[in-house]
Amino acid sequence: MPYRITDECISCGACEAECPVSAITQGDDIYVIDAELCISCGACADVCPVDAPVEE
Ligand code: SF4
Ligand code: SF4
Repeated sequence: MPYRITDECISCGACEAECPVSAITQGDDIYVIDAELCISCGACADVCPVDAPVEE
């Protein structure tokens, strides 16, 4: 299942550069994952300081 970024996101941007398929972009309030692109590798969750990315 694709990952989703929860409201815990503090928009630090660390995950964006780690995503191998560039599925993460900066949204209005928090970063967002394109579920169509996400390959569920978990790299974003590994670098996130607040554990905002969660697998659906
Ligand atoms: Fe990108 Fe992997 Fe996170 Fe999906 S789980 S958004 S592919 S880093
Ligand atoms: Fe948000 Fe975590 Fe990504 Fe930083 S690493 S932008 S806190 S989801």
